[in-house]
Amino acid sequence: MRVLVTGGAGYIGSVVVEELVRGGHQVVVYDNLSKGHSAAVDPAATLVRGDLRDRDTLRATLQAERIEAVVHMAADSLVGESVQRPDKYYDNNVGAGLSLLAAMVECGVQRLVFSSTAAVYGEPAKQPIEESDPTVPTNPYGETKLAFERALPWYERAFGLHTASLRYFNAAGASERCGEVHDPETHLIPLVLQAAAGVRPEVTVFGDDYPTPDGTCIRDYIHVVDLAQAHVLALGAVADRSCIYNLGCGGAGYSVRQVIEAAGRITGREIPLRIGPRRAGDPAVLVASSARIQSELGWQPRLGELDVIVASAWQWMKKFPGGYRRSASAA
Ligand code: UDP
Repeated sequence: MRVLVTGGAGYIGSVVVEELVRGGHQVVVYDNLSKGHSAAVDPAATLVRGDLRDRDTLRATLQAERIEAVVHMAADSLVGESVQRPDKYYDNNVGAGLSLLAAMVECGVQRLVFSSTAAVYGEPAKQPIEESDPTVPTNPYGETKLAFERALPWYERAFGLHTASLRYFNAAGASERCGEVHDPETHLIPLVLQAAAGVRPEVTVFGDDYPTPDGTCIRDYIHVVDLAQAHVLALGAVADRSCIYNLGCGGAGYSVRQVIEAAGRITGREIPLRIGPRRAGDPAVLVASSARIQSELGWQPRLGELDVIVASAWQWMKKFPGGYRRSASAA
C-alpha cells in the first residue's frame, strides 16, 4: 500500500516507517520536523516537510502520492507540558488531527492507524488494563488523545473511515538505525543510560514510597520494534473494520529500580541515583492486557525482556552518541 506516516521522523514514527518499508509498503513521511529528525527517516521513504494544519500541502501530498492509508503519529506527548499548555495540546493533538481527517475525507483515503496512549485510562482501577476499562484521563495529553479517538467512530459512520487506535504503554529500545532522543529528555530508560554514560550526573527516582514490591513505579515497557510491527498488522485490519488495541507486553511489568538495575548489568557501570519526590500524576502501576491484539491480529511481543530492550537502547546510544545531529554531520 501507499502509506502516509505523519510524525514519521520521530522516535516511534521512524521505526514504524522502517517496518512498513520492510513489509513492502511505499511510505511517505509527513512531518514538520519540529521535534523529528530528517536523518531518522528510512532512505526508502519520501520525506515531505509539512504541517498538518497546512491543508493545501496535506491534500496535495495525499493526491500526488496516491495515498491509500495513513498512520497518524504526529503529536505532542509530554504529560507535564500538557498540564502547563493545554492550548498547545488541543491545537496539535485534536485540531491538527481533525485537519488530517478532513483532508482524508476530501481525498477519499479511508484507512487510518492512530497512535493513542495508555494515558487515556488515567488512574486505572485494576491491572492489567483492558480496552473496555473506563477511560478517565488525568491530564490534557491523555484527554486530547481520547478526544481524537472518540471522533473516529463518528467519521466512520458518516464517511466510511476505518480506524485502529493503538494505545501504547511505555515504548522503549531502538532499532539498528533509529533510537530515542528528545530535547528535553523525560523518559526513564534514556535518562538512566545517559547517567551510565556520564552525560548526566545522576538519575532521580520519582518516589520510592509507592505500594509496589520495591516502592517504585511499575510500567509496561514495550520494544519499539514490537510496537512498530503492530502498526503494520493494524493497517491490514482497517481494510474493513475499526478497532482499539492496547500495546504492552503484560506480565508483571518492571519497576524503576529494576530498570536501573538492568542498565547497570548491561552497561557494566555504576548508575548514580537519587531518590526524589513523586512526579505529579504518576499512577503506581500501569500494565496492559494485550490479549485482544494477540488474539485478533496474532501480534506477539518478541523483544519484551527488559534486558533486551535496555541493551538495544544502549547499543544505539553508543553508535550515535550525539543523537542524529552528530551522526548526520558525520555521515
Ligand atoms: N521516572 C523516574 N525518573 C525519571 C523519569 C521517569 O523515576 O527521571 C519514572 C516515572 O515516574 C515512571 C517511570 O519512570 O514511573 C516511567 O516514566 P517515563 O517518563 O519514562 O514514562 P511514562 O510512564 O511517564 O509514560
